[in-house]
Amino acid sequence: MSTRTPLIAGNWKLHNTVAESRALAGAIAAHVRDGSGCDVVLGPVATSLTAVKQALDGSAVGLSAQNTHWEDSGAWTGELSPALLLDAGCGYCFIGHSERRQFFGETDAGVRKKVAALLAHEIVPILCVGESLEQREAGQTLDVVLGQVEAATEGLDAGALAPLVVAYEPIWAIGTGRTAKAEDAQDVHGAIRGHLSELKGKSWADSVRLLYGGSVKPNNADELLSQPDVDGALVGGASLSADNFIPIIDAGVRRAES
Ligand code: PEP
Repeated sequence: MSTRTPLIAGNWKLHNTVAESRALAGAIAAHVRDGSGCDVVLGPVATSLTAVKQALDGSAVGLSAQNTHWEDSGAWTGELSPALLLDAGCGYCFIGHSERRQFFGETDAGVRKKVAALLAHEIVPILCVGESLEQREAGQTLDVVLGQVEAATEGLDAGALAPLVVAYEPIWAIGTGRTAKAEDAQDVHGAIRGHLSELKGKSWADSVRLLYGGSVKPNNADELLSQPDVDGALVGGASLSADNFIPIIDAGVRRAES
């Protein structure tokens, strides 16, 4: 169907002790076959990054942070940096999650600096974008989402952006049990790819992995992942149990095989 490798990423948010994180990562890693054709990434809390890295050792599962600052070091109390994430073994980092934009004042300008800093350290940014319910109902979905994508990639060319992953996460679908209809997700993903093509060139845009996030569960993953521009999923609640997350990984493997 597509030459893009599917990606299933788990966002553990503010959940799990070190011991719980280690156990969950081990259970998921035991299921993931090297060469399955689907990439899998886990995003634990920062205090569990090192333990999860150890639990994933020798497996095909990647490690993601949930946020970063843009500077490497300095007087930035409470922050983590791309350099330190690399030191902890992260290959990925979520950026601009709606919870950070909504509750921690994350701006488009800050998101752009973080994307650039991660790319400079060869960490793959998983850039999160998405509209609120009010914006959707006002018909502003594409203006908001394409605006966020454009702002986050401003001044960076296709070469610099090469590994970027974009996750479309409608805010009204996150943690609510409401999922976008597969065709609606496809419409937004198609528009994101089209806009990236206009901004940065078709060949890179065609290679960018676009994830859907927002109440992805075992019972809706196949339908979402059967859409041409839905290359994977960013999963919150269902990534907190191996019993729920593994069937979603299996849906990613089926997409790779289709
Ligand atoms: C998320 O937090 O990125 C997310 C998509 O959460 P959930 O799957 O719980 O809606």
